[in-house]
Amino acid sequence: MAVPHPLAARLRAVGPGGILALLLAAAGALGLWVLAVGHAERRAVDAVAADARHRLEIYANNLDGAVERFDYLPSVAARDPAVSALAAAGSGHADPAAVDRVNRYLEAVNASAGSAVLYLMDAEGRTVAASNWNRPDSYVGIDFSYRPYFKDARDQGVGRFYGVGTLTRLPGYFIAAPVEHDGRRVGVLAVKIVLDALEDGWRTSHDAVLVSDRFGIVFLSSNPDWKFRARRPLAADTLKYLEESREYVGLAHPPLVLPRSLQAHPALLVERALGRYGWTIALAADAHPVAQAAATTRIGLALLLLLALASGLYVRQRVKRQGEQRLAQAALDRAYQDLERQVEARTADLRDAQAELVQAAKLAMIGQVAAGVTHELNQPLTALRALADNARLLLDQGRQAEVSQNLSHIAGLVDRMAKISSQLRNFSRRSEGPAQPVALAAAVQEALALLDRRLKEARVEVAVEVPEVTVAFDPVRLQQVLVNLIRNAEDATAGLAHPRIAITATSATLDERPAVRVAVADNGPGLDPAVRDRLFDPFVTTKPGGQGLGLGLAISLAITQEYGGQLEARDGADGGAVFLLTLPLAAVEHDDAST
Ligand code: ADP
Repeated sequence: MAVPHPLAARLRAVGPGGILALLLAAAGALGLWVLAVGHAERRAVDAVAADARHRLEIYANNLDGAVERFDYLPSVAARDPAVSALAAAGSGHADPAAVDRVNRYLEAVNASAGSAVLYLMDAEGRTVAASNWNRPDSYVGIDFSYRPYFKDARDQGVGRFYGVGTLTRLPGYFIAAPVEHDGRRVGVLAVKIVLDALEDGWRTSHDAVLVSDRFGIVFLSSNPDWKFRARRPLAADTLKYLEESREYVGLAHPPLVLPRSLQAHPALLVERALGRYGWTIALAADAHPVAQAAATTRIGLALLLLLALASGLYVRQRVKRQGEQRLAQAALDRAYQDLERQVEARTADLRDAQAELVQAAKLAMIGQVAAGVTHELNQPLTALRALADNARLLLDQGRQAEVSQNLSHIAGLVDRMAKISSQLRNFSRRSEGPAQPVALAAAVQEALALLDRRLKEARVEVAVEVPEVTVAFDPVRLQQVLVNLIRNAEDATAGLAHPRIAITATSATLDERPAVRVAVADNGPGLDPAVRDRLFDPFVTTKPGGQGLGLGLAISLAITQEYGGQLEARDGADGGAVFLLTLPLAAVEHDDAST
């Protein structure tokens, strides 16, 4: 199977619209690039060319000045009578003394003028005397009749020519003037100027300068490679002329090839005509600044595009991250809702489990109670059996009085069993009704009223300090619990000289809900250490002679818990026992209080 290229996969992810947008953006960036670089290059070319034109003007003036200086030298020197006489005599008939004199004259003038060579030709073009007469490359005796400047000077009065020296092979500029004697043109006096010094100057100023003649042949240049090359193709008759005039002593003239930077920006080659000589001076400006401007623009553009790209990526990333954040938020919300549902389900499970536990605890207690009941009932049953058997024997013997005594014993035992069974019925009976608002103070008063006769007989001092609050409870059950606690307190104080019971109430909380805590305190002997840990277990009693069943506190605790309350036993601060009954306040209690 072909593995998809990662780029292809990404492009697929972007989609056709995205690809089109990307292509458009790329095309836009490319267009901007080309336009901006082109513009920068054009501006740089314009600036460089303007500067080059300025310098070209200076170079043109220098060249003009360098040549112009010698313009009148041949015509002035030709006026010398010795010169004209020698020319008139001709090379064949010259007096050596006269030649020597003119040689020295030309040598002196040449030296003071600073020209290369100054020389005199007779009417046939043969050199009669020359400033370089005493040098190995002396012109004396050489025929220059073929040189155009000779012919031009003799025939038209002035000859100008640029060419390479046939002997010296050094290029030079020749200016020639006719020599007249008795009104006749008897010869030509010519001066050769070497312009190499100009080239050196251009080279040191790092400018590529070239001077070409009327045919386009470069004869002066700061770049030696360009010399004698043709700036444009040479016509056949031009080539013929060059051959005859030996202007460039037969040198070849391959085409001039300009550097690539100039080909790319032709405007960098500035040129100007030097009218008098038919020459053209040109300056090839340095293309470096143009390349630099383009490079700077490219770098700037690249940075700009990078910035744009980075901004784009940043924005994209941000959008993506926001999307991710939204997704994460949604996932979080979902997870939260899941969790909430789970918590609810677990809570329900827990509630069920707790209910089951409560039920299990009750069953356990019922088992305990059943065991206790069996034990409690077995004793009177055994006694009943013995008493009944005994009664039959006594009846047979006719002992009526004793039978009656037995029967009253039996009646007592049955009473006790009835009492146990009625208490058990109480214990097992489920709550009759739901919790309802019960006035606490009134409930306490009613409980005290039920026990009034007993309390008075025992001369118990009862102190009650209970506020008018409403608790959420069953009124009958509340009374049952209170009666139990007060009766236990009364039992505990039995036989005391000053039995006292105090019933007080303070505010409390039950599972953070407002509640009231009722304290039933007595000045009895306090809790018996033998049973204090099991007080609330069924059939736990310390009361002698079957007075107690040990069910009161167990039933009271069960009732209290049924309605969400608490029941605890404490030692009293000044001896005695304190039973604390904490009851939830009714919700309407606040409304009652506020009205
Ligand atoms: P009974 O009253 O039948 O003994 P209860 O469950 O009411 O059964 O009481 C259990 C035991 O708790 C009592 O036998 C007694 O030892 C102890 N008790 C209850 N109230 C007090 C009290 N106010 N002072 C001391 N002991 C008490």
